[in-house]
Amino acid sequence: MKTVRLYLILSITLFSVLQIAAQEMIDKRNVDVRMKNLTFYVNKNEKGLIYNSVKRLFADINFNRLNKSKLINTENYSVNIFLMNEIKKLIKDSQIHLTNAYLVVSNKYILKFIVYENIADKSPKLKAIITLIAENVRGKVKFSSPIKYRSKSWKNKQIGNINYFYKNSFNAKLAKKFNRKNSEIAKKLGVSIKKLTFYKCSNYEEVQRLLGIDFDAKSVGIVQSSEAFENTIITGVNSEDFSHDVFHMYIKTKFPDDKDRNFIAEEGYANSIANAYYAKNNGEIISRRELVFYLKEYVEKNLNADLLELFQKNPRVYFQLSNQVSKEVFNQLSVKSTISSLICDEVEKTKGFEGLIRLLRSGKGENAFFKSVDNLIGINKTNFNRRVKKIILNFN
Ligand SMILES: [Zn+2]
Repeated sequence: MKTVRLYLILSITLFSVLQIAAQEMIDKRNVDVRMKNLTFYVNKNEKGLIYNSVKRLFADINFNRLNKSKLINTENYSVNIFLMNEIKKLIKDSQIHLTNAYLVVSNKYILKFIVYENIADKSPKLKAIITLIAENVRGKVKFSSPIKYRSKSWKNKQIGNINYFYKNSFNAKLAKKFNRKNSEIAKKLGVSIKKLTFYKCSNYEEVQRLLGIDFDAKSVGIVQSSEAFENTIITGVNSEDFSHDVFHMYIKTKFPDDKDRNFIAEEGYANSIANAYYAKNNGEIISRRELVFYLKEYVEKNLNADLLELFQKNPRVYFQLSNQVSKEVFNQLSVKSTISSLICDEVEKTKGFEGLIRLLRSGKGENAFFKSVDNLIGINKTNFNRRVKKIILNFN
């Protein structure tokens, strides 16, 4: 009986939300709820369950109470929490307008929010559009990402420890290779192998949409990017292989405290143990091997090339790949990381994996990197050109 009544209240409530949705933006009668630099507009007729729950949810997001919040759906919890933390970044100093709400299945509703910059302007700048699912669980509203709803027609395949979701094409050979790599990296770091849920998206916009971020002004222009957290991967490089970032994920598991991480070394070894992360126009992920060969070609042609300068200034040099990759990817191809990957290999060869871990944990920045490399294998700024040139020219 109670459930039926609540359902009725909810339906009437949502019906009125829908009715006023179109005029919401200009309706001066909207209730303006202020929460420290955040203005949240909802229709004043809206007094129901959703209204209060939405208000409480945004308060929990805004006041860092997410880990204690009772409003987050515990099913698929890590995805939901990840999304809420993304929303926290998007709603800083903003106006949030609830613009649409409709029933999708039984007790689940789609809620659509528009986020504007919080300025006293007649045409404030659009920052983001967010979609959440609100579920009425015995009179309590639980919020979640629409990821399941939005991927419900996707195909699913289990390859070893990887549970793949994809729309169209699936490269089983590459998936098997990634599954092996996932185990190999975990074993090398001495941590347990992760069972991963893997969504294969064509680009970053699709990644964000799957999560519930329909538009994000900050991400305009980003095509090949991904999100990864806990045991979930949502890749935007249209590939079954995510081994580069899986290395970063396992490092995070092994050393949860970020403060000793040296990202120059970590990026280098991620290239070396896996690949260069980005994909060519033909969908193939760029390998470290080809980046070293192009660098070798460059050094052979310019024997006086200043490798220390290349490493420190990190200019764009991979012109050999420029007609095979997008401009975005070309700008990401790093000669610094390629050189760092070779130095990491040299450390591992000479001092073993333990030595490499010392380099990976040498602390932030270039000075820490140089100090550690000098301690481990005696490469320093004085002999950098000679030693690194030799390593590059001997690569095969
Ligand atoms: Zn990386």
